[in-house]
Amino acid sequence: MKTIQDTNLKGKKVLVRVDFNVPFDKQGNIADDTRIREALPTINKLVSDGASVILMAHLGRPKKGGFEAEFSLKPVAEYLSKLINQEVVFTQSLLGSEVENLCKNLREGQVMLLENIRFYPEETKGDKDFAQKLALLGDAYVNDAFGAAHREHSSTATIAQFFPNDKYFGLLMAREVENLNKLMKEHSKPFTAVIGGSKISSKIGVLESLLNIVDNLVIGGGMRYTFYKALGYNVGDSLCEDDKIDVAKSLMSKAKEKGVNLYLPEDSIIADDFSEDANTKYVPEMNIPDGWQGMDIGEKSINKYCEVVLNSKTILWNGPMGVFEMKKFAVGTNAIAKAVAQATEKGAFSAIGGGDSVDAIKESGYADKVSYISTGGGAMLEFLEGKVLPGIKAIEQ
Ligand code: AMP
Repeated sequence: MKTIQDTNLKGKKVLVRVDFNVPFDKQGNIADDTRIREALPTINKLVSDGASVILMAHLGRPKKGGFEAEFSLKPVAEYLSKLINQEVVFTQSLLGSEVENLCKNLREGQVMLLENIRFYPEETKGDKDFAQKLALLGDAYVNDAFGAAHREHSSTATIAQFFPNDKYFGLLMAREVENLNKLMKEHSKPFTAVIGGSKISSKIGVLESLLNIVDNLVIGGGMRYTFYKALGYNVGDSLCEDDKIDVAKSLMSKAKEKGVNLYLPEDSIIADDFSEDANTKYVPEMNIPDGWQGMDIGEKSINKYCEVVLNSKTILWNGPMGVFEMKKFAVGTNAIAKAVAQATEKGAFSAIGGGDSVDAIKESGYADKVSYISTGGGAMLEFLEGKVLPGIKAIEQ
C-alpha cells in the first residue's frame, strides 16, 4: 500500500481529498469535529514534510449546482485554522485563474481548503474533464477520505489517473484499510458480528457476506421484526419490511447451512407510540401485540448478547439495538457498548462502524475502550461486503 508515511512530498503541491462532512448544530457550530480531527495526522505530516497542502472536501448534499451558503465549508476552514495553529487559505471557487494563482503561490507548509466540491455537479458524476482541471492544481494526490471511498466521484476516484506515479493513501485511509483487512482476513475466532439499525434492506449485502466468515451473527434494532414476521410471529406496529421477509428467511437458512449461530432477540421493550413519552411494556417473547411497536431489546436478549460478545475474540458492531436516540430505549445499545469494551479489555479485537453505533459508543463513554472506530458508514459496509471501493482501487491500480 503506497501511503504518505513512506514518502516525503517536500516542495510539492499536494491535493488531498479529506472527509470534512461534519454535522452542524442549530446555531451553526460544528456539532462533532471527529472527521476533521481524523484528518489531522495526514495534514500535519504533509505540513511538517514541507508540502503545500490543498484540501478538497464536500459538505452535505447541495442540489442547486452552485454556491449554497448552508453547505459552505468556510466555517470548517476557520475551525481547522484553530486546530493546526495556522491560517487556512480558503477559496470560494475551485476552477479558474484566481484559484490557480493561489495554489501556485502557496508556500511550503501552507494549507488551503477549496470550497465544497459538490457545488460542481460534475463531481458526483465522476466527470473526467472536471477531475483533470482539478488535477492541474497539484503535483501529487492523496486520498484520505475513507467515508467517501465508496463513491466514484471526480475528487475521490477519477482524479487519481492524472497522478500515475504520485498518488497515495493518507494515514486515515491506510489505517481503515488495514483494520478492515484484519477484520476480514486475519481475525481470531470466535468472530461475532452484532448488526442492528432500522432496516434489513440497507444491510442485506453485508449480512450475506458476514455469514461466510463469522461464527455468531447477532441481530438487533428494527430489522429484527422482519425476521420475527418471517418466523410467523405477530409484529404489531413494529418496523417491518414485508417485501424483505423472503430475504430474512433466506438469511436464516444460509446461517443454518454454514453453521453460523444466528441470534434474534427473544424479548422486547415495546411502546404504544414512537416517542419518548409513550407508554412502555416488556414482552418476554417475540409476539408483539397490535397497537404496540418494538423499541429496544429486552433483558433476556441483553444478557444473552453480552455473553456472546464477551466470549468472542473478534467483534464487529454496526447499528444500534434499539431507538437509542430516546434515552428510554438506549438500554440494549448501551449494554452492547459496555460488553464490547469489556471484551476488548480481555484481548478481543473490536471494530465499530456506522454513524449511529459510533454515536452510541461515544455517548456510552466507551469510545476509547474499543480497538477501532471506523469513520465510514456506507464505505465500511461496502468494504465488508467484499466490494472493491473506487477510492481505494484508484490509488492501487
Ligand atoms: P441504520 O442507519 O440502519 O443503522 O439505523 C439506525 C436507526 O435505527 C437509528 O436511528 C435507530 O433509532 C433505529 N432503530 C433501532 N431500533 C429500532 C426499532 N426497534 N424501531 C425503529 N427504529 C429503530
